Amino acid sequence: MAARDEPDVIKAVEKIAGAGFKLMELVFEWPWLTHENYQQKVPQLQELKNDLGLEFAVHAPFSYEYFTHNNPALRRFLFAQIENSLLLAEALDSPVLVVHAGRISSMGYHLLKNPVKDSLKIFSESIKPLVDQTQTKICVENIAGGLGKNPEEIKFLLDQTPGLGFCLDFAHAFVQNNLDEFLDSKIVPNHFHLTDNPGPHDSHQTLGTGKIPVSKIKKYLTNKNSYLILEDLTIESATKSKQYLLDSFR
Ligand SMILES: [Zn+2]
Repeated sequence: MAARDEPDVIKAVEKIAGAGFKLMELVFEWPWLTHENYQQKVPQLQELKNDLGLEFAVHAPFSYEYFTHNNPALRRFLFAQIENSLLLAEALDSPVLVVHAGRISSMGYHLLKNPVKDSLKIFSESIKPLVDQTQTKICVENIAGGLGKNPEEIKFLLDQTPGLGFCLDFAHAFVQNNLDEFLDSKIVPNHFHLTDNPGPHDSHQTLGTGKIPVSKIKKYLTNKNSYLILEDLTIESATKSKQYLLDSFR
């Protein structure tokens, strides 16, 4: 995402690494990594990883995310994209795969007795076999307005799915107006996403240009085994955000 003007994932990784970032999250999204192209990109990504000492996390698809759709055929096809992103993560020895539980379709609202709970259950049942079979930590992310939007829904998913991890996106929580609720909850995140925004839109701004209380989140970033991903839109913005973060933690 930090190199959205560079459609070739290999060149994008080279540019981001050139700016001094060793850990990056690869989004399994067109045009960078897709169902059709990801296998051919793996050898080059492995080579870059080894040559430049990089570590890759992977983010499953998020722009067509009806993973709990009532139509079983559609659900299987969409969920297969998550499975592909896990295969990519495993090929790159990624410690983390971030997934969205998705959104409820309009038919879901019509047909399900309890749309949120029933959809969360469908997601849990679908992701369980992947969680059980992989060394990569699959982490469900809180998304504003979607499934897993608040601590209660995230806790439900974690309780239903032993082994599933959690990615706390500070910006999504801020937009959803429940950042404090997440920070006060007993849920321990395994992975973090951070960008700034003034609310109410998730505008992925440089840290310090919106209203995210960066000083407040400091104490949640003490786990040395978890990663923080800056989800800026450009490399320049990510470089500034990194400096802002280092300055505020000084
Ligand atoms: Zn995120």
